[in-house]
Amino acid sequence: MPLPPPPMTFKCNQCSWSKTTTPTSDALGPGDWYQKCPKCGNPDLHRSRARILAALLAKAGKYLNI
Ligand SMILES: [Zn+2]
Repeated sequence: MPLPPPPMTFKCNQCSWSKTTTPTSDALGPGDWYQKCPKCGNPDLHRSRARILAALLAKAGKYLNI
């Protein structure tokens, strides 16, 4: 059984855009992975494993629709 990918934080160094995603399965949806910054188009995004708090906030945001 494949494990779901870990929560990831994407960060753009050109603008201040950043996003934490929490994929729910091994199938990454369009909102779960970013190849480039959706704001300025910078392809050199900084990706890191989300800290647990950011991951929880992202998850809560999904449910609360904020
Ligand atoms: Zn950007």
